[in-house]
Parts: sequence; C-alpha cells; structure tokens
Amino acid sequence: MLPPMVHVGIGYDVHALVEGRKLILGGVVVPHDKGLEGHSDADVLMHAVCDAVLGALGEADIGHFFPNTDPRWQGAPSRLFLNEASRLVSFREGKIVNVDATLVAQQPKLSPYIHQMKVNMASALGVNISQIGVKATTNERLGFIGREEGMAAMAVAAVELP
Ligand code: MG
Repeated sequence: MLPPMVHVGIGYDVHALVEGRKLILGGVVVPHDKGLEGHSDADVLMHAVCDAVLGALGEADIGHFFPNTDPRWQGAPSRLFLNEASRLVSFREGKIVNVDATLVAQQPKLSPYIHQMKVNMASALGVNISQIGVKATTNERLGFIGREEGMAAMAVAAVELP
C-alpha cells in the first residue's frame, strides 16, 4: 500500500470594491470606506483559501459547491465555505498540513488584522493557527488593485491524503 501523500492546491480570487459594503477579510470586519462586492460576505481571502483546499482534494471550485445564484449563500459568512472544505478533507480521511495565503490590497493597512484572520481561518478549518500563513501586500499602485477598484487573494494548501 502507498504511504499517505501530500497533495497541494492553489486558490485565487478577486472581488470589486464598492461603497456601502462592509470590508470582510479572513472573517475580520476591517474599517474602511469601501467593501467587497459579492453574493456572500465576499471574503476574498477565505474564498482563495477555500479553493486551495478544494484544489488539493482535486475537487471542483467554490462556485460549484456554493453557487452565487443560491439564495442560501446570500450574505453568508465565508467561514461556512471553509467549514465545508474541511469536512470534505475529513470525509477523505485527510489532514490539512498547512495553508498559506497572500492578500493583495492597496488600502487599508492590514497588518493589525492579520493575527485575527489567522485565528478565524484556523478555527473555520479546524486546525492550529501555526498551520495558517497570511501575508498582505500592496500592488504598488499598479492596475485595478493599485487603483483601489478591487482586491485579490491567492492561497496554497497542503493536504495529506491516505
Ligand atoms: Mg469569491
């Protein structure tokens, strides 16, 4: 029999910034004059992480499991999506080894919120905070992110599967 193997997955997401929405990143409500547009709470960081975990399982993406046409997910907290990704890992008798993510946002300064984002995502995935990496960078004022029209996030996940 083959030994357990580590599978990696990648996730990427973008949401537009608009007025009149809360800015929710990694489950943290970040004070800002705009928020991300989307069907759920539009938590771009959790969405990228969710896709990374699903990718490690070889599953379809977040839009397949949680279509933005389904009223159940309207305004839904994105931790529910991480809960489900984690459940799928357990169903496969796997274990999340680690997750690492980068948020790309021109504004606001996110360093004060990074720790709480890790706490929230570790909790949603049922892992230790030491298994979650979160970094934030600006886009050096270039492109749609630099013009503050939107934010992006990318993530990788390693999952050990039998
Ligand atoms: Mg999304």
